[in-house]
Amino acid sequence: MKNYTVEALILKRMDFGETDRIITLLTPNHGKIRAVAKGVRRPGSRLAGHLEPFSHAKVFLAKGRNLDIITQAQTLNQYRELRADLSAVSMAFYLSELAERVSVEGEKNYPLFNLFTQTLSQLATEGERNMLLSWFDLSLLELLGYKPDLQRCHECGHDIPTQASYTLTASGLVCRACQDHTAGGICIKAPILANLRLLQDGFFDVAGSSLDWKEVTQTRQALQFIMAYTLQRQFRASDFMEKVQRLCPEA
Ligand SMILES: [Zn+2]
Repeated sequence: MKNYTVEALILKRMDFGETDRIITLLTPNHGKIRAVAKGVRRPGSRLAGHLEPFSHAKVFLAKGRNLDIITQAQTLNQYRELRADLSAVSMAFYLSELAERVSVEGEKNYPLFNLFTQTLSQLATEGERNMLLSWFDLSLLELLGYKPDLQRCHECGHDIPTQASYTLTASGLVCRACQDHTAGGICIKAPILANLRLLQDGFFDVAGSSLDWKEVTQTRQALQFIMAYTLQRQFRASDFMEKVQRLCPEA
């Protein structure tokens, strides 16, 4: 049996058998790994505390016949600050679910791993979390090769200035002249377009700046629209997050 060690983020865990769990890991070198943590649900298991959802850990594995076996784990970052806040936890579940869906087993993906760790670290700090999630979504779309064009009309190629309302489709913006013969899409106002462009430029550290919460929410909705169309399904974690935010309106 061959042993190997990975740096991983814990994406998901699922009870298995009497006392085991199947853990889904995101690694930079091996992409997604599904592995068994034996006896992890027994009281006093030494593994359990190191395999919490969205923890960053060093994981030791042994090759198994079907799934590999987790023999040992060591926490590198638990994102403790994040866990104290239900709204941040729901967002971390959203990130985990997205990462789980877009990652591939056995396929290395350093950019996805880095994007995920960077976003979790930011999520653990104070700041505008909805803007952070929107930045994550835009960055993820770019990684997947679906970067929306926010500068030119997707139909005719004309430059689009930031000064009026436009139609936003999953592929990008559509100018006024083209919008009548464009199916689908949502209307976005100039400040939302400005926010999207800032986020696409990599600007996400907006802590302390005076953002209008309504515009932040609308920016988030614009991104959710693009994500839903691009990835062709709504995410369960996204629904969960919305429920939590209704419970905690100040979040
Ligand atoms: Zn056009």
